[in-house]
Amino acid sequence: VQKQNPELSEALLEQFPGPGCYDHEKSEWLFFEFFIRNYLPNSPKIQNLLVNIVAQLAQAVSKNVKGTQKYGESLKDAMDFFDVAVDSDRIRDILAQLLADTAAVENLNQEFQIELQSARIEVERLRKELEESQRSARIDSLTRIPNRRAFDDALDQSLSMTDEPTCLLLLDLDHFKQCNDVYGHQMGDRILEIAGGILAGFQTETVFVARYGGEEFAVIVNDRAAVAHDLAETLRQKVSALRLKRKNSTEVIGIVTVSIGLAQAREGETAQNLIERADVALYRAKNNGRNCVVIGSESA
Ligand code: GH3
Ligand code: MG
Ligand code: MG
Repeated sequence: VQKQNPELSEALLEQFPGPGCYDHEKSEWLFFEFFIRNYLPNSPKIQNLLVNIVAQLAQAVSKNVKGTQKYGESLKDAMDFFDVAVDSDRIRDILAQLLADTAAVENLNQEFQIELQSARIEVERLRKELEESQRSARIDSLTRIPNRRAFDDALDQSLSMTDEPTCLLLLDLDHFKQCNDVYGHQMGDRILEIAGGILAGFQTETVFVARYGGEEFAVIVNDRAAVAHDLAETLRQKVSALRLKRKNSTEVIGIVTVSIGLAQAREGETAQNLIERADVALYRAKNNGRNCVVIGSESA
């Protein structure tokens, strides 16, 4: 009536155009479409699957309840009859009827169990699918290492653990635009993959690596600045040791270098501030002639 949800208002008018009987199934459908759906994950495919499971279960429950109600009525009729009956043949008939009704309810319960079991299997499958899609949303598709989103979370988490230091390395490949121009974009992609692979090789419990964006990478080191600096220097050397060759050729056509800015988090420093300081250090590394590591000011 208030048109807070215009689509729902429209659907309501469509389903219930005028005065008439309240239709349970239509209401249920509207409820799923306009309320339940809002609480579900974004993926339309997963939404549909979940809605189907809920609808299927609701139907099974309702069928089961109706069956049990009917059975209750049979029992009540039988009790009423026993109050007045004396004829043993009639009693036998009634008992036979009760036995048949009991078997019917048992059947209903069994069907219900089967429905529940199949819903359970479906939910389990969905859970796995969701987990997989959540995992892949945090991995960079080219380099197969964590992406910016995963990095943001990891940095926040690292900064919230105050009992160990947080150092941040920002790495930026040198003259990468030129690299693309000279060797082609495909070769550029391949270099990014290889650089990601080098970083991935250093991932440990205290070292988190990610593709920060474009030709930039980030490494979080939960250790002293000296340790982070050693790692930065190792990474820089590993990258500069790469030799670019064309497919099926041994001729070296170029090398790749990387500039690295390092900053150690101060007490209570925000992620944004730490990134900015590492970025300033990186900028200085570029200005210093590239292919070098620069430690940001105010780092230990
Ligand atoms: P600098 O040494 O100052 O960092 O120079 P640069 O050329 O590396 O920096 P610039 O920011 O000018 O250019 C970055 C280039 O990285 C431009 C862009 O085409 C390239 N690049 C970014 N992402 C990708 C990618 O996914 N694949 C490829 N092949 N190139 C990329
Ligand atoms: Mg860059
Ligand atoms: Mg660059």
